[in-house]
Amino acid sequence: MPKVALVRDPLFREHTNGPGHPERPERLTAVDDMLDRFPRKRDLKDIPARDASRPELERVHEPAYVERIEATRERSFTMLDPDTGAGSRSYAAAIRAAGGTIAAVDAVAAGGYGAAFALVRPPGHHAEAGRAMGFCLFNNVAVAAAYALEALAMSRVLIVDWDVHHGNGTMHSFYQSNRVLYFSVHQFPHYPGTGRSEEAGQNDGEGHTVNVPFPSGQGDAEYLAAFRRILIPIALEYEPELILVSAGFDTHQADPLAGMAVTDDGFAGMTREIIGLSERCCPCRIVLALEGGYDLEALSRGVSSVLTTLLEGESNPEGLEGAGGARLERKASSISSQAQRSIEATVAAHRRFWTRL
Ligand SMILES: [Zn+2]
Repeated sequence: MPKVALVRDPLFREHTNGPGHPERPERLTAVDDMLDRFPRKRDLKDIPARDASRPELERVHEPAYVERIEATRERSFTMLDPDTGAGSRSYAAAIRAAGGTIAAVDAVAAGGYGAAFALVRPPGHHAEAGRAMGFCLFNNVAVAAAYALEALAMSRVLIVDWDVHHGNGTMHSFYQSNRVLYFSVHQFPHYPGTGRSEEAGQNDGEGHTVNVPFPSGQGDAEYLAAFRRILIPIALEYEPELILVSAGFDTHQADPLAGMAVTDDGFAGMTREIIGLSERCCPCRIVLALEGGYDLEALSRGVSSVLTTLLEGESNPEGLEGAGGARLERKASSISSQAQRSIEATVAAHRRFWTRL
C-alpha cells in the first residue's frame, strides 16, 4: 500500500507571476521530472486536489480580499504587489492550492497515509488576511490548519515553517490563538522583516508563536539545532494532533533568493526530526505543503530527500541514519556562535511558557 500521498494538479502550473519571475511553473515541472525517476514511486500515491470553498478561505482571509483575487480572472494579468502577480488562471490555481492542502489533511486524518505532500503553486505563507504578498495569494497552510480545527474538530495543530523567509501571514493568522503552534526558523534580517524572537504571540496565543531568526550563512547543523533545542521540546509539551510543514526549499545553499547553506542532508534531517516527533505524539500525522525554492535542481532534490526520508521513517520506525544521517550527526556536533545566540534568544523569550525548554 502506498505510504505517502501526493497532491499534484496541472492547474498549479497555469498560475503566473509574469515573465522572468523566479516563482514560475517550471518549478513543478522539475519536481514532476524528479518524481518520474523516483526509485520508490510505487510507495507514493497521487490523490485528487479540490478547490477550497469560499467559507474555507474566509476562515483566514477577508471576504473582500477573496473577491479581489477572484476578480483577477477577468484580466490577462494583474499586479497584486511589487513581487506578486496573477494571470487569468491564477485564482483557479490558488483556490485549488488551498483546497489541495486541505485534501492532503483529509487523506492523513482518514488514516490511509502516514504523510502527505501538497506540491502546490502559488505558495502561501506570506499571504495575509487581506493582502497578497511575497508570491502568495491564499495562505494554503493557514487555510488547512483552520480546516483541521473547525471541520475536523482538532484542538492543537503544529505548523513548522522551514522556508528561508518568515511566514508572516501564517503567524498573524493564529497570533492570538493557542490552537495553533507556529514555529519558524528563517533568515533575518530578510524579507518580509517579521519573525523576531520576541514576537511570541498575544492573549491566548502567548507562547504559541516561536520564531528563530538566523543570520545568513547557517546550514544543516544550525537548523537541526533549532529543531532539537527548541521545536522538539516545545512540541512534545504541546502534543499536536497534526503537523503541517511549510516546506520551502529556498533554504538550500544553491537558492538564488537567499543566503542560507542547507543541503539535501539538512532537509532529510529536519524531516527525520518531524517524523520522530509525530511518533511520540501519536496519533499525529504529517502534511507538507510546498512554499518557496527557486533553484530547480535544489528544489527537486530537496523534495526527493524529504520523500525518501518519509518512506524510510514509515518502513523503519527506528529511523535510518544512512550515509547522509551520519554526515549530519558529525556536523551537528558544533554550530556557529551566531546561531547559538539566536537559539538562546528564542529560548529566553519562551522559557516562561514551556517547562521543557
Ligand atoms: Zn521563501
